[in-house]
Amino acid sequence: CGIVGVLGNHEAAPILVEALKRLEYRGYDSAGIATINDGTLDRRRAVGKLVNLGDLLVHEPLAGKSGIGHTRWATHGEPNVSNAHPHRSGSVAVVHNGIIENFRELRAELAEYGITPETDTDTETVAMLAQHFMSQGLSPTEAATKTIGKLEGAFALAFLFDGNDDLIIAARKGSPLAIGYGDGEMFVGSDAIALSPMTDRISYLEEGDYAILTREGASVFNAAGEPANREIRKIQISA
Ligand code: GLU
Repeated sequence: CGIVGVLGNHEAAPILVEALKRLEYRGYDSAGIATINDGTLDRRRAVGKLVNLGDLLVHEPLAGKSGIGHTRWATHGEPNVSNAHPHRSGSVAVVHNGIIENFRELRAELAEYGITPETDTDTETVAMLAQHFMSQGLSPTEAATKTIGKLEGAFALAFLFDGNDDLIIAARKGSPLAIGYGDGEMFVGSDAIALSPMTDRISYLEEGDYAILTREGASVFNAAGEPANREIRKIQISA
């Protein structure tokens, strides 16, 4: 299972699928991507091998230069299209590896506002919570960081927002996450191998970090919410 995110200058869908291929070795039961085209977020998801997602994208292409992608290893909810990532609630789309241990408590809190899940996953709760905070007036970044602060468990996360094609919020707790630096492009992924076709300039989030990505670069914050400097290294990956 793996995650990837792209704020690029080229069509994102093929880049996302290629990055997911490089994460196939981790195993997965379904896959999906979301992109933003002319400000509008849309997604495609398929059960089984990445070739199924590829076939779907041939018939129902996704344009746009910003996007997130996921290969899923189901922990909560059977492997079907509805449970496949990216998950969406309102304008928020989320990809997630790991487990949100307190998703039932969070679901119960959201139910008091009449917000109910449409899938069986723990992950959807993350999108629902961020959307809830946005509907209370928080910005995407504020909503995502407030959401991250409420999550218990192990996760790598990436958020993408409808109407905003220059923003990805990524977070790491118990699951590795690499940030890739391009030339006016930024990337995030489960490992450097996934990002190697796009860039060899990589920094790694540390435990509890979150990052705000735009095409200009990444602002990284530690678990205490303080700005953190994570060294950018030039890495070498063969093939
Ligand atoms: N717990 C999430 C789910 O079951 C993410 C699983 C994963 O790491 O792929 O959808």
